[in-house]
Amino acid sequence: MKWLRYEHKGKVFYGFLTDAGLVAAAAGLPWEGAAPTGHTAALSDVTVLAPCQPEKIVCVGVNYLDHAQESNRSLPPEPLIFLKPPTAVIGPGEAIVHPDISDNVHYEGELAIVIKKRCRAVKKDEAAEYIFGCTCANDVTARDLQRKDIQFTRAKSFDTFCPLGPYIETGFDFAGGEIKTRLNGRLVQSSNINRLIFKVPEIIEFISKVMTLCPGDVILTGTPGGVGRMQDGDLVEVEIEGIGVLKNTVIGG
Ligand code: MG
Repeated sequence: MKWLRYEHKGKVFYGFLTDAGLVAAAAGLPWEGAAPTGHTAALSDVTVLAPCQPEKIVCVGVNYLDHAQESNRSLPPEPLIFLKPPTAVIGPGEAIVHPDISDNVHYEGELAIVIKKRCRAVKKDEAAEYIFGCTCANDVTARDLQRKDIQFTRAKSFDTFCPLGPYIETGFDFAGGEIKTRLNGRLVQSSNINRLIFKVPEIIEFISKVMTLCPGDVILTGTPGGVGRMQDGDLVEVEIEGIGVLKNTVIGG
């Protein structure tokens, strides 16, 4: 099932895609069992927004071998985590604003997990119970600032640096799924979710030992090799098999 958040006639709704390709509105939050209201609209008549409004976004760095190699990093013995602020989230079709203090803003196509229930100290065997679904993410990064600063906060946290969407797929198969990023139509990242070094249940176990995860929180699971620079006017697309395509343009700040 594909859930989305959207604007229709000036109001914001949660809803889901029907078999007929319509958007059906639902009352309440999707992860709390929102019920259909009976109202539908054509997908072309709505503006698709970021599919959730997380309290926090927890990201895993260096979680594909080829990205570790291109970054000249050794594989971490345990997940390397950092945060992006919720104010960085934008939806499909919204512009990534290129900050003027960076000369090297990169795309990072990633699988994102949306949390279903408040949880802490989850064991990996029980992690599935706390996952609502998956969406596409772009962990936009000012690479020059990441290298210059000791930690990642500034490089990862600019407004618009966390595109999410278009849908949350609740039936995603974690056994595998292709992940691709295209820049102006050119394939620049191509991998498979089955190549994640730390798998999703281990990631949830690791993060939830540190902090409580809340409904609607988002975990970015890391990017495969092929990261690179985006420039003003570029169109960047992150596609995950079974979820959809997240498209954003880049504009000057
Ligand atoms: Mg990343």
